[in-house]
Amino acid sequence: MTKRLWSFSIVCLLVTSCGTPLTKPFQNQSSTQHSTPDVTQTSLEAIRDFTESPLITDASGSKQLSMLPPASTPSASALPTAPTRAPNPTLAPRPTLTPSLKPKINPKRPVAQPEVSKRPSLPVQKNQGQVRISQKKLTLSQLVVKYPDTFKLRGSSQEKKVALTFDDGPDTRFTPKVLDALKANQVKATFFVLGAMANSHPDVIKRIVNEGHVIGNHSYSHENLPKLSVDKFQNQIESTENILHNLIGYAPRLIRPPYGAINEEQVKWIADHHYLIVNWNVDSLDWKSLNSDQVLHNIMQQTKPGSIILQHSGGADSQDLSGTVQAIGPLITKLKAAGYTFVTVPELLHVTKSK
Ligand SMILES: [Zn+2]
Repeated sequence: MTKRLWSFSIVCLLVTSCGTPLTKPFQNQSSTQHSTPDVTQTSLEAIRDFTESPLITDASGSKQLSMLPPASTPSASALPTAPTRAPNPTLAPRPTLTPSLKPKINPKRPVAQPEVSKRPSLPVQKNQGQVRISQKKLTLSQLVVKYPDTFKLRGSSQEKKVALTFDDGPDTRFTPKVLDALKANQVKATFFVLGAMANSHPDVIKRIVNEGHVIGNHSYSHENLPKLSVDKFQNQIESTENILHNLIGYAPRLIRPPYGAINEEQVKWIADHHYLIVNWNVDSLDWKSLNSDQVLHNIMQQTKPGSIILQHSGGADSQDLSGTVQAIGPLITKLKAAGYTFVTVPELLHVTKSK
């Protein structure tokens, strides 16, 4: 009898320990060397970015920083109603949004936990004598699998093409230098920009487009989207879209949620409105103010055919993206020598840049 109890306990232990594959701690960059499927690995990277990346702020100077509202100010709720799109964007004046509204500063980083691990046990509901397991929230990796036509992390692995992407701009501190480096190397990239920053630096947005790059929507003020109400989430997307449409003449189809974080309800809304979510499968970690050698190493270590590479062209005052700028030339040289060509995200995914 004792033997049977022991056997039963051992089997229970084995089953329990194997039943939570998505709650492992995050891997470092070397995880790309493993045979982990892209989807899971990249989603972990996305979550890691969500957990580690400091929230964006305006990089236009410490004086402006002191003018920002305190971190507790609900900046998303202060968002203006999405302005009406002008019929002729090249001639129409830009909509005027509240000029004081800056991307939110939040010195506290979100807690480093994948979504699954936040729920220690499944809630059970009794319904007419039956026991039913209530529906869990899906993780990012599960959302990618469930919505493959809407949620993209990379292009085809059959073509030796890669896409450089730059988030959190435009600013006047690093974005112009990124553009200079791309121009010198004749490479087109994709910029996921913030509505608030586009509003502050319209000339930089126009330069990005005039030099052949593609613009994507990175929300208005870099909120953690899954925590927003439906109205606030939609306003983050639509107010940015209207600002961009009036500046560049098209409504971007590509959306990159801040920190790569999004929930299923929002994914469904994005699918219904014919947008695409574009995260990444190569994380340069450049937001950590790495030097150019470190940025280059991180990217070269992970890049494969079809990769979407995450870098930044703007950030908080405390973030130094000089390493990003200096790595661009050597990165392009190395990857071209390895047989890669550089394309924009729409070219990589064979989709339109506009809605
Ligand atoms: Zn961002």
